[in-house]
Amino acid sequence: MSTENSRDDKDAQTPSDFSRREVLLTLGGLGAAVGGGAATWGGLELMVNSRQTIDSWNKAVCRFCGTGCGVMVGMKDGRVADVRGDELAHNKGVICIKGSMLPELTRIKGRLTSPKIRKAGKLMDASWDEAMGLVAAKFSESIQQFGPDSVAFYGSGQLFTEESYTANKLFKAGIRTNNVDGNPRLCMASATTGYVSTFGKDEPPGCYADADHAQCFFLMGSNAYECHQPIFERIRQRKRLNPDTVIVCVDPRRTKTAEHSDIHLPVIPGTDLLLLNSMAFVIFSEGLQDQRFIDKHVLFSNGEHIVDQAALVQFLQSYAPESVEHELGVSAADIRRVAYLFAKSPATMSLWTMGVNQRTQGTFLNNMLNGLHLITGQIGRPGATPFSLTGQPNACGGVRDTGALSHALPNGRLVANPQHRLEMEKIWNVPEGTISDKPGFDAVNLFRAMEDGRVKAALIMCTNPGASLPAAARYNAAMGKCFTVVSDVVEDSETQRHAQVVLPAALWIEKEGVTGQGERRYQFTPKLLDPPGQARSDLQILADLAVRLGHDKLITARTPQAVWDEWREVSSHSLYNFKGITYERLAKERGLQWPCPTEDHPGTARRYVEGVDPFVTKGTGMEFYGNYNYDKKALVYLRPYVPSPEKTSAEYPLYLTTGRVLEQFHTGTLTDRIAELHQATGNAMFDLNPQDARMLGVNPGDYIEVKSKYGSVIGKARTTEVSRLGVIFAAFYDAKLLINRAVADNYDPTSKQPEYKVTAVSVKRMTA
Ligand code: SF4
Repeated sequence: MSTENSRDDKDAQTPSDFSRREVLLTLGGLGAAVGGGAATWGGLELMVNSRQTIDSWNKAVCRFCGTGCGVMVGMKDGRVADVRGDELAHNKGVICIKGSMLPELTRIKGRLTSPKIRKAGKLMDASWDEAMGLVAAKFSESIQQFGPDSVAFYGSGQLFTEESYTANKLFKAGIRTNNVDGNPRLCMASATTGYVSTFGKDEPPGCYADADHAQCFFLMGSNAYECHQPIFERIRQRKRLNPDTVIVCVDPRRTKTAEHSDIHLPVIPGTDLLLLNSMAFVIFSEGLQDQRFIDKHVLFSNGEHIVDQAALVQFLQSYAPESVEHELGVSAADIRRVAYLFAKSPATMSLWTMGVNQRTQGTFLNNMLNGLHLITGQIGRPGATPFSLTGQPNACGGVRDTGALSHALPNGRLVANPQHRLEMEKIWNVPEGTISDKPGFDAVNLFRAMEDGRVKAALIMCTNPGASLPAAARYNAAMGKCFTVVSDVVEDSETQRHAQVVLPAALWIEKEGVTGQGERRYQFTPKLLDPPGQARSDLQILADLAVRLGHDKLITARTPQAVWDEWREVSSHSLYNFKGITYERLAKERGLQWPCPTEDHPGTARRYVEGVDPFVTKGTGMEFYGNYNYDKKALVYLRPYVPSPEKTSAEYPLYLTTGRVLEQFHTGTLTDRIAELHQATGNAMFDLNPQDARMLGVNPGDYIEVKSKYGSVIGKARTTEVSRLGVIFAAFYDAKLLINRAVADNYDPTSKQPEYKVTAVSVKRMTA
């Protein structure tokens, strides 16, 4: 059943947010940081007090999430005294509590200041020369004895673009292995495979500004209120200005996003492809499709070959709302109502994130979300767009676009495509046949290869897979079997406990570089501070490794700007073309969205649209030019629902799902070290529905053991109506809980993205 929120309910939940915002705005254009908890308010007051004495304000980008908020960094006596939202940036001055705490980020305790080498079981200080000499020797030895595929790079959507690009080039064109992957595999791989198979090209076609025009928002598997707050604020602003706007939230939990939506569909975990297929059924059976758009711009595919529209309609017959409502947990009437709203709204914007992507059917779900927009023509107009939000600040620009993934090459090229390899060999000026035709190991399989000895040496940069991988105990042990090198900013992560060498890295404004956020916008962060002790940028570390491994003639660009200039030149040979995005422009402008082929091009807010996207042929209106094999039309797929391998049973009767909370980012290595943010969240707990708790004999504050086939975790329980009956939730920021030890080790067969959102578990109250 859906839950409908009355206006009164929502207003009752918001006044503290808005009084806080109003006060801040009155105090002189300060970014409207919005958050919960007294710690937030305290932090913001500090910012306000310090504003009178700033030496200089500097344009930068928030270090944390994929919203990629523009911020102004206030420097005083060589320290960061203040950070506020940048009113001229896409986020219009709005930042969340994490962004408001950026000054504290520059002073977190426990920074790594010296390289370390493990000796007699302990990490001991070493010189850079000693540490890098050892890394290079171990990598060379492994490559010589076991071949290039015995080494690997595991990166991050938090590295600068220049760093991910350099790592990708060094490993694929220098060392000659495609064992390059990283944590974006864990958060957005299904969005990528969904976009590529639908439109022929990765990345969202729309932009955040579409939220200013949409009249129906369809949020699925996204707690944007907490995880992409400025975007959700924009949605709420749209609703305030245009009360006819409808917000629909699809989520098993009654999250803050669900609370602030008009309609909440609390689906049973793992079943929501039934919802999307059923909405498509309703759209065709009620004649709600946009047939003119379909005829002009759409083809249908069963995944193997093109079929006709009748085949799709026939396929959808088994998804009638009345047939799926029981398994889905949403009434047929609600499915029909939402299908109608989606199709008939003047402009519908879908937004989704990990609830959709972190699934064994993640690619199929992405296909169907894109497909709903295509069959209803809800694309290519302001406010009408399928938009996958991304989690990390540079997963899009740094990793997806540079092709720093095991199957990929820059700008949408694929390792498996001989023409693409040849193109990159020419561009990188390396002999034909240099790039291996064998895709490397994706994230999970990389750690499995470390486990069984196929990968013997790995460089892990700017991420903490010891806490972020599913079945974490298994993959922590795998790292211990390999020569693991970790570059990181703070000491003592779960990953470092298995490392042989740890390298101290610069953080955020201690280095300069470019990040590409979720709407194809590249933005520049300047260097404003020196890194502590001997810490270096990851680009310096990679350049040093390249030289020591004998690839100095390949990796000639060793400063951020030199790498960026090379990278934008590489892009000019593709339909990503952003040659016009120079460092000079980035320093002045509030980011630019690609394609942007020339220095006088304004950037592309909406892709595939004539008059906006430079690659669309005049007179076509819209053109999905990535699908040149399909007459430049987009593909709508027939995607059958298959239940998750994690089905509840007598032994494991509940579903565990995991996620983020407002005040914490990723595995908490940075945010949980900021006192105010730690104070706001405390240690992570298990959220149980009160009815489940009663049946299990669990009281709030009890310790419980949550056990799956993959592992067990003990933590404190609390009860909340946020959790749907039968669903237990834990946030993954807290290393003490380390919930990923219990998360299932399943992944989508196409995207290879793990299914964090569906694990069957048992719950037992601890007596001692
Ligand atoms: S954490 Fe994300 S939403 Fe918050 S200020 Fe930073 S970029 Fe914006």
